[in-house]
Amino acid sequence: MAKLPCLLCNSVSWEREFEIQDIFDEQYLFGYCSSCQVFSLNPFPSTRQLKQAYDESYYGVGEKKFNPLVERVIDWFRAKNAANFSKGIPDNACVLDIGCGNGSFLNALSKKGNFELHGIEPKGKSGDRAEEYRQIELHRGYLEAGTYQPNKFDAIVLTHVFEHLPKPFETLQIIRKIARQNALLQIEIPNINSWQYKIFKSKWLHLDPPRHLNMFPPKVLIAHLEKEGWKLVDESYFSPQFSPFGVQQSILNMVCKKREVLYEHLKNNTDYISSYSGFPILLQKLFHWLSFPLFVATDLLASIVKKGGTVKLKFRKL
Ligand SMILES: [Zn+2]
Repeated sequence: MAKLPCLLCNSVSWEREFEIQDIFDEQYLFGYCSSCQVFSLNPFPSTRQLKQAYDESYYGVGEKKFNPLVERVIDWFRAKNAANFSKGIPDNACVLDIGCGNGSFLNALSKKGNFELHGIEPKGKSGDRAEEYRQIELHRGYLEAGTYQPNKFDAIVLTHVFEHLPKPFETLQIIRKIARQNALLQIEIPNINSWQYKIFKSKWLHLDPPRHLNMFPPKVLIAHLEKEGWKLVDESYFSPQFSPFGVQQSILNMVCKKREVLYEHLKNNTDYISSYSGFPILLQKLFHWLSFPLFVATDLLASIVKKGGTVKLKFRKL
């Protein structure tokens, strides 16, 4: 199949890094644009492959996405994130969470101030969970040009969502229109420039094929947004919520035949796990809890030189 031109610079100088397989045994090619360094799956995954990747099991089959203990830990991180985010926005701010999932970030934010809270989430179990929160005005679907009026929002957040977007730069144009002057834009993505990617390559959890369509080196995304009238006000490469698990699952991916076994287990995806025999799940869980502090420490170290597993960027609209 013909190679697609780069979404950012339109160049056709795409270089293959490796072949990569998803949890459904589908194959993809992963590589980067040698002209601007944006990484992508090329060719673009088919509609069938994407539909399969966002099936019910993606959102977790139970009441919540993960098991109760993991949900508690994640909620704690979300509350911390919400507290930090609330400091950068005015009272009564109008906030939009694009790809708000089950709404727990907005729910956590609602406890930090008197905000008008909007969330976007396509159909699926995750958004169904968000509908439970009365304080969130939820749009089921995708962000399009007419979804919101111009200059509506004081703050817009995308947490591990930007890399899923098929047309990220069109989305950024819409974001710019619906954001007020001086609005805060927070984008958190996996860091393709991390030590984790350098070490684990195709086994890296955060490549998450085929859901992560494009992966942006932080410098490239910052330069693009600054050109489009945003000012970078903060960048953070330390994430105890996302990074230590990135290392742990990637190590397990190198040892095990199938990828993301522990992650799927934590989501109660029993179908996927039932066909798995190998490094026992119980040992994987022990490894997960016992080595967690170690990999928080290594991520802290990596973050000092901007090589942490994920990156959170904050911008202000000029
Ligand atoms: Zn390019």
